[in-house]
Order: sequence, then structure tokens, then C-alpha cells
Amino acid sequence: MARKIGSRYTANQILGRGSAGTVWLGEGPEGPVAIKLLREDLASDQELVGRFVQERTALLGLEHPNVVSVRDLVVDGNDLALVMDLVRGTDLRTRLDRDRRLAPEAAVAIVADIADGLAAAHAAGVVHRDVKPENVLLDMQGPLGPGGSHPALLTDFGVAKLIDSPRRTRATKIIGTPDYLAPEIVEGLPPRAAVDIYALATVLYELLAGFTPFGGGHPGAVLRRHVTETVAPLPGIPDELWQLLVQCLAKAPASRLRASELGTRLRELLPLVTGMPPLDVDEPDAEPAEDEAPAAEEAAPQGERVRRRGAVPLVPGAKPADSNRDTHTSMRVPAPDELAGGARGTARVPRPAGAPRPGSARHRAVARRRRVALGAAAVVLAAAAGVGAWLATSEDDAGATPQDTNNTAPATP
Ligand code: ADP
Ligand code: MG
Repeated sequence: MARKIGSRYTANQILGRGSAGTVWLGEGPEGPVAIKLLREDLASDQELVGRFVQERTALLGLEHPNVVSVRDLVVDGNDLALVMDLVRGTDLRTRLDRDRRLAPEAAVAIVADIADGLAAAHAAGVVHRDVKPENVLLDMQGPLGPGGSHPALLTDFGVAKLIDSPRRTRATKIIGTPDYLAPEIVEGLPPRAAVDIYALATVLYELLAGFTPFGGGHPGAVLRRHVTETVAPLPGIPDELWQLLVQCLAKAPASRLRASELGTRLRELLPLVTGMPPLDVDEPDAEPAEDEAPAAEEAAPQGERVRRRGAVPLVPGAKPADSNRDTHTSMRVPAPDELAGGARGTARVPRPAGAPRPGSARHRAVARRRRVALGAAAVVLAAAAGVGAWLATSEDDAGATPQDTNNTAPATP
């Protein structure tokens, strides 16, 4: 079911659906291309069409091996389309869905590629604003790099900005995907290059761990964590790599590295992670532990306490059916008191593999068994102490005190 896009392109086959439209495998005067056909309601928005044309030069000017180049912008009748380089491969989300987490070497190589692409964009004054695994394409036809990874390219440049018109997102709305949003955006500051570094560091953490540092639970809780919580350590990664991650996840944008520095540092660290297997950590639960009483999660109804990635479409009115993944969100900026509510130190701490999730039925059962065991131990100890006391009075030997022996009892959860 081929269709003409403008006078020069033909869209032949759907490659995928996204929140902003459908991506087609197409044909142009210079060969195969990918054509992103924007949703009808976006294409019929005159203001957006105006911005589309305005941004043309900035969008078309970006050329870098790690950036999916936009070749052309087509405004034709009801069609609004971005013509891009065709990348034959898969996106990083699909890869993560399949493998859960990547070997550190591949993760570092992929993120270094994207940092290089970002460096070129930032040098040209373009901020991406929506760096996430969905927008990283792996070129399966490119040469294999460190850790067996294919070259990575960043796509969807400028798309968030195009769609983020004042009318669509007014002062109280923000655009992006909650898991990757830099704290300064949550606080209402304009997005500068450092937001891409924060998002990219979040992607690196996710590739290594299998989950994002501040994700999980209600989107409002995710936003709050970006502002108030520190990132939980990832057991098993080299300290230098961890320091780099922490620096790029700094709350203060000025403390983060620049894209070019990040790319260089990551490549320098590659030898440290060569041959390392994927980390063995389990995702902390979005549910709070029994004794915790966090503010924002509490506001969510019980049934909503499940891990979910931005459930709200980027653009008001976007039907979930229009998106193969709910990755974008357009949401209200939380008020300062909402953000202040729940600072509780370090974000969700990864559990050792196999350990029960806090608050889970298994965790509660283990905790109950431990309490029973401790209770039994206490009874034994009390009895021993009684016997000891009796012995002490009879033999003048104090024996073991309950405090001493307590050290050998199972650790309290
Ligand atoms: P959106 O950002 O609007 O949600 P995407 O840009 O992620 O949509 O596109 C949807 C799908 O199309 C993705 O699964 C991606 O793999 C595929 N795709 C996007 N751009 C290209 C491209 N340049 N070459 C090949 N496939 C692409
Ligand atoms: Mg995309």
C-alpha cells in the first residue's frame, strides 16, 4: 500500500508507530529513506506547520555518524513528514526488552556513540530534549564495535521541540519522559544541553542495571525523585565509571560533563569493562517498603502502584492505540510542596539478585519468618540467660549475656 509523500517520495511499508506518527520505509530520489509521517491532528495544526518550516535549517543541518540525519521536511496537503536516513536495525528499547541489561562494555560503547552525536548537536545549538532508549537506533549493518555492539545513532532530533509549542504545553506542562527528565526541567527551568547529558546518563544506568535510577510508580513520584533523591549505587561496576555516572546525574546542570567530555571519558573507561558480564542486580520495587510512608506514592490508589513508564501521551488527544509504546508524557509540573514532601535520601536501592522485593508477599513472609526466628532465639536466650544467671549465682560465672549472643542471631531485616 504505497503512498506518495510530496512529489519526491513514496512511502512503501510501515516500519513502526510512534507517539508523533508513523515511520515508513520509503523511497526517494537518492534511494531508500525512512519517512516519519506526523499524526493528522499534528499535521493540521497551523502553528506546528509554521514551526516545522522555521526549524527546517536547524534540523536539516545536523550531520554526524551518530545522528539520524533529517534529509527533508515535506509539507504537502494534509501530510507533514520528516524524511530521514534509513537505519537498518533495531532501537535500543527493543534490545533492552530482549536482553534486560547489557554487558557493561556494550553499554559504554553505545552511550559513548550517543554522547558523540550529542556533542555535534550541542555545538550546533540543538538540544535534543528526549534522549531515551526508544530514540537510539542500532545500525545492524554497521561494523561491530566494543562488546559486540553496533553503531548507535540518535534520532528524533528537534521533534520534542517542534511539538512543544506554547499552546500545547502552556506554562504548567512539561514535555519528555519522566524517567529521563532532568531535575531542572521539573523545576521549570528552560532545557539546556545539560538535560541531554542527564538523560543519557540515565540511559547508561538503565543499560547497566535493567531499570532507571528514579523510575517506578506514579509519574509524580518519579519527578519528585529526580529533584530530591540521590542515585543508588550499582554493585559491581568500576568506581571510575560510577563516578562518571554520578557526575552526569548531578542535580546541578553545571556540574555535569559536556557531551564531548562524556564521550571521551567513556571511551577511556572501555578497557576497564572489557569482557565484563552484565551486572547481577534486581530492580527495586516501585512499592514502598512496609515501614516507609513516602508522600507522593501514597497519593496513588493501590492499584496504580505498579511500575509503568510515562502513561500519558506527549500530545493531548493522542490515542494509546497510536503508539506502540507509551513513552512520552505531557504532565503537570508538581508544586514545590509536592516536591518537598518526600525526600528520603537515596533512591530505590537495588537488591542483590534473588532477594525479595521490599513490601512483596515473599518479603513479608521472609520478614515474618525472621521475626518468628528472632522471637524463638530471644526465648532461647532468655532461658540461657536465666540458666546463666542461675549458674552465675551458683558458680560465679556470668556466661553469655543476651546482648553478646544477639550478634550471632539472624540480622534484622
Ligand atoms: P516516536 O518518537 O514518534 O514515538 P519513533 O521515532 O520512535 O516514533 O518511530 C517509531 C518506530 O520507527 C521505531 O520503532 C523505530 O525503530 C522506527 N524508526 C524510526 N526512525 C527510523 C529510521 N530513521 N530508520 C529506521 N527505523 C526507524
Ligand atoms: Mg522516537
